[in-house]
Amino acid sequence: SKNLLEIHNLKLYYPVKGGFFKHTVGNVKAVDNLSFKIKRGTTFGLVGESGCGKSTAGRTILRLLKPTDGKIIFDGKDITNLTGKSLREIRKDLQMVFQDPYASLNPMQMVGDIVAEPIYNYKKKSQAELKKEVRDLLEKVGLPKDAYYKYAHEFSGGQRQRIGIARSLALRPKLIIADEPVSALDVSVQSQVLNLLKDLQEEFDLTFLFIAHDLSVVKHMSDRIGVMYLGNMVEISEKTSLYAAPLHPYTKALISAIPSSDPRKKKVRTILKGDVPSPVNPPSGCPFHPRCPMAKEECSKYKPVLKEVKPSHQVACHLY
Ligand code: SF4
Ligand code: MG
Repeated sequence: SKNLLEIHNLKLYYPVKGGFFKHTVGNVKAVDNLSFKIKRGTTFGLVGESGCGKSTAGRTILRLLKPTDGKIIFDGKDITNLTGKSLREIRKDLQMVFQDPYASLNPMQMVGDIVAEPIYNYKKKSQAELKKEVRDLLEKVGLPKDAYYKYAHEFSGGQRQRIGIARSLALRPKLIIADEPVSALDVSVQSQVLNLLKDLQEEFDLTFLFIAHDLSVVKHMSDRIGVMYLGNMVEISEKTSLYAAPLHPYTKALISAIPSSDPRKKKVRTILKGDVPSPVNPPSGCPFHPRCPMAKEECSKYKPVLKEVKPSHQVACHLY
């Protein structure tokens, strides 16, 4: 199939315990009914404010969390309920690049071993073969030749993220889920790391699920983009049409808040009312209605479903 990943109605609810006997008193709907597809060799950007469930969605797709409901089809195979050996097998093809390169690398391990570990765990290789493979990987991500015997703390944030990227590539995965891979880095090194990811995508034939809250970063990286709000996908579109003609009032507000690089272009900024509500007892109807400048009466009563309103452009909103 031309899609490497297909997500159908994915849900991830956490029970909320309360009271003296710690009864379940409600659910956190961290991911509520997420559906999208990623074509092979492309990048799907998942964007939304912090706490909207995008990282939880990424972890659920990697099967680090057990989905409450829905389906995850990876490379033509239903991986939703895999466990044990078959889950371990599929993990080779699905890797993650984490947000914080300071916390995600073992400080006690040599850089070479950090990168070698996944290969060592999965494949029978001689020490010489393994070392050669790791040196090649370190070189491909642009680390110095002597990086192998050093430790993560001897490197800058950008270089540490390169170590994390080399490790994620070690098993030659098909899909990489990058969760805010540059948001902990200085702005000056962000684009270097993003461009490295793009080059590696070409070279290793990778498909990306790229998670970020920063719309300019997502724009730089993605072919298609999905916008999440309170655990729900509210809009999905090709990049160009999303930025040129967003449909959902939430997407419009997010895009209007991107600072313009051209000072002559004055933008009308939509300021959203209030904060993101808690996902514990999310608003009735459209989850965005308490903050939406366009809300109508029906918006608090009925939840809009994601539907295609322009070619390959989907939106969940009663205005369409
Ligand atoms: Fe706004 Fe209603 Fe559309 Fe929700 S459904 S985004 S509240 S107009
Ligand atoms: Mg996150």
